[in-house]
Order: sequence, then structure tokens, then C-alpha cells
Amino acid sequence: MQIVCLDLEGVLIPEIWINFAELTGIDALRATTRDVPDYDELMRRRLAILDEHDLGLDDIQQVIGKLRPLEGAGDFVEWIRSRYQLVILSDTFYEFARPLMRQLGWPTLFCHRLEVDGRKRITDYHLRMKDHKRAAVEALRGLNFQTVAAGDSYNDTSMLGAAHTGVLFCPPRNVIDEFPQFQVTRNYAELQQAIEQAFRG
Ligand SMILES: [Mg+2]
Repeated sequence: MQIVCLDLEGVLIPEIWINFAELTGIDALRATTRDVPDYDELMRRRLAILDEHDLGLDDIQQVIGKLRPLEGAGDFVEWIRSRYQLVILSDTFYEFARPLMRQLGWPTLFCHRLEVDGRKRITDYHLRMKDHKRAAVEALRGLNFQTVAAGDSYNDTSMLGAAHTGVLFCPPRNVIDEFPQFQVTRNYAELQQAIEQAFRG
């Protein structure tokens, strides 16, 4: 019994916040977990900036609706699902991910949710739980699954470490240097090969 746990942004879809920053011209929103390892600090910063600029969920969803999955992501998801089980473990929010998950054929997604007030202003965010990527992989191992996890940044490294096999996908230099124990892949063909190899044992 084999399951693949994939990060979402940077692996199957572009970084939502970076694209949003580009469209709005708000440079401060470009920071991601690649730049600020502390996720809560990063999110508090983002919500404060949105508030300053009077931007709500509708504005963000308008941008996200224009995004497409990364080239080849749809085929890659189908390749995994036809051979193994797949769960996507992400630190994004259901409210943001919806338009993109539709384009990927609604694979299983574990992520977080936003709190939005009557004026569609994002007032808070709720993590389903802390370090949920790692906890999910550990739980799946407890259910007797052989696990491969793949992701691109800091917030993936604990799930990569918890999986039987952890693989980095198109990571930035600093993550490669800090986590030399994980194999690095740079396209879907390489990641596919790493997954097959891991499950072949
Ligand atoms: Mg990512």
C-alpha cells in the first residue's frame, strides 16, 4: 500500500502570493516560506498588508482564477493516481485553492481555512493543526502505508523527514544546502523516477 504526499505551491501550481503581489504591485506580498521560515510570522504580515491596502477575498480569488497549474501538473497527478494513492498536503487555504483544484480534477487536499467577515475582509486564518504535513505523513505510516513525500521549501522538510522517502522538487539553493539528506529533482520526469524507485525499494 503506497501513498504519495505532495506539496501544492511550487510543485503543482505557481506560488499564489507571488502572483497576487505581481498583479497588485505590492512587493511586500512576494515573501513566501522560502524567505520567512516562520509561517505564522509570514501570515500575520500578509494579513496586515491586505488590510492596509483594503484588499479582500474577492480580490485575491479574482487573481487566483486566472492562474493555471504548472505545465504538466495535470498529467503528473493523473500518473500518480493511476498507480498509487495521492494526498496533497499544503499550507494554503481551501478558499484560495479551489479554482486550481478544479483544474487538477479535485485530488484530496489537506490544508487550512480563512476567516472572512461580512465585507469579505480576511480577518484571521486557522491552521487545522500545527506542522500538519508531518502529522499527516506519520498518521499514514501508522495506517501501514509506504510513503513518499515531495515538496519545494522549508515548510515541507519535516514531512520529507517523516516519510519513508523524502524528495525535494525544484527547491531554492538555501533549502538544498540546509537539507542535503534529501534527493533533489527538477522536473516531473525526475520526480516520477524517484517515486518509482522508492516504492520499488
Ligand atoms: Mg511549496
